[in-house]
Amino acid sequence: MSSQRLAIIGGDAAGMSAASIARRRDPDLEIVAFERGPYTSYSACGIPYYVAGLVEDADRLISRSPDEHRNNGIDVRTRCEVVAIDLDARRLTTRSAAGEEAHEPFDQLVIATGAEPAPLPIPGTEAIEPATTVDAAERLRSALERGGRNAVVIGAGYIGMEMAEAFVDRGMDVTMIEMASQVMATLDAEMAEHVQDAAEALGVQVVLGAGVEEIVLDEAGAPVAVRTADARYDADHVVIGTGSKPAVKLAEAAGLEVGPSGALRVDDRQRCPGHDAVFAAGDCAESYHRVLDARVNIQLGTHANKQGRIAGVNATGGDDRFPGVIGTAVSKICRYEVGRTGIGEHEAQRAGIEVVATTIKDRTRAGYYPGAGPIWVKLVAEPGSGRLLGGQIVGVEGAAKRIDVLATAVWCGLPVQELALLDLSYAPPFSGVYDPVLIAARATAKLL
Ligand SMILES: Cc1cc2nc3c(=O)[nH]c(=O)nc-3n(C[C@H](O)[C@H](O)[C@H](O)COP(=O)(O)OP(=O)(O)OC[C@H]3O[C@@H](n4cnc5c(N)ncnc54)[C@H](O)[C@@H]3O)c2cc1C
Repeated sequence: MSSQRLAIIGGDAAGMSAASIARRRDPDLEIVAFERGPYTSYSACGIPYYVAGLVEDADRLISRSPDEHRNNGIDVRTRCEVVAIDLDARRLTTRSAAGEEAHEPFDQLVIATGAEPAPLPIPGTEAIEPATTVDAAERLRSALERGGRNAVVIGAGYIGMEMAEAFVDRGMDVTMIEMASQVMATLDAEMAEHVQDAAEALGVQVVLGAGVEEIVLDEAGAPVAVRTADARYDADHVVIGTGSKPAVKLAEAAGLEVGPSGALRVDDRQRCPGHDAVFAAGDCAESYHRVLDARVNIQLGTHANKQGRIAGVNATGGDDRFPGVIGTAVSKICRYEVGRTGIGEHEAQRAGIEVVATTIKDRTRAGYYPGAGPIWVKLVAEPGSGRLLGGQIVGVEGAAKRIDVLATAVWCGLPVQELALLDLSYAPPFSGVYDPVLIAARATAKLL
């Protein structure tokens, strides 16, 4: 019987991936996971669809409940927050919802504390609960069901935009206020414009270049309006989607290193430098970006699950490595699909990387086939070699998952000249005879 004890802080994607693989690898290991909320292994990604009413029951967002994990031999402690880590003594201090503190020893530790909303330093934010956990989403939906027609979304990143669409689906009047000059800062400006057009076509009022100065509250502390320097927007409901930062305070206080990205520094085994038995994974940890050749913090469920698994393998004596990320992401925004991978022109510029770039417009299906609609594909490549460095796709249904072809090409360092003749599939319901990805690659190759 193993006398070791693996402790995990954070009971969602990264933490419970680590716990589950550790359980499979070592049936005798004692595994304890601390989660301050009531749920484990929930899909934050599904929250906008639950808020919209597309998913009726919040339970559907839970892929494994605390009891299911317990039945799998993982000692899950919900509503139990870890408030201190003592790395020398290998001991955690926990606090229950009732305020009781306890000490919990560990031999190995996986830190998977995720991310937390970056504070928006304006009056009134204290009244707005971030809708980033399932229980918070349940409270938001109950509030929506009690009434109120006007919704204001602050921040036009993908989460803000998904929430805006959710409010539209509920029949509400939606205003989205963004400080930057475009929506979706992860896209190049001209690709983001198509997403903005889609939002406006659904009736979302998009206000760009405007900083919110106050969330105006009534006497009971409920929102009634959102105020910028120039205007006031009525608001029965407010969602803040201005970004999250890695939740590292606890680990930093314990002496673990935080990198320039603001996330916990880890090596490619998810191990915290200088601490053989301590691992970090998911939104709280840094990743190596294979195109930028830099340590970054990109908060995505895809990375969290993989990194958690690798941390769990290595915490139980294995030797798996995380190969890095290229920032591949998709979303459905206001009836359009959006995908991105690698770097965009704006990121290349920021990093001082010279690139060539092309954008093409095509149709998602053969022009005569019902449901065909616009798709824009933008490619960014290395001058000379033609190596694909990034791609962005915006379009109607069927557009987004094409990003995975581009992600594979970026990952493998495929030149656009080769991509242009890649043996991709064709039938009228899915594409023209040349897929838009091939057309974009050919157009980019011409520039080299
Ligand atoms: C609305 C929304 C939509 C999203 N959509 C997508 C998507 O479409 N695709 C995608 O790839 N990603 C998406 N994401 C991001 C994705 O959900 C995260 O990247 C992923 O959940 C990160 O997993 P994690 O385990 O690292 O962190 P989290 O999911 O944040 O889990 C961390 C857990 O740790 C707990 N915790 C923190 N500190 C402590 C402590 N001291 N003690 C005890 N417990 C603690 C927290 O309560 C939390 O449950 C979305 C996120 C949101 C909010």
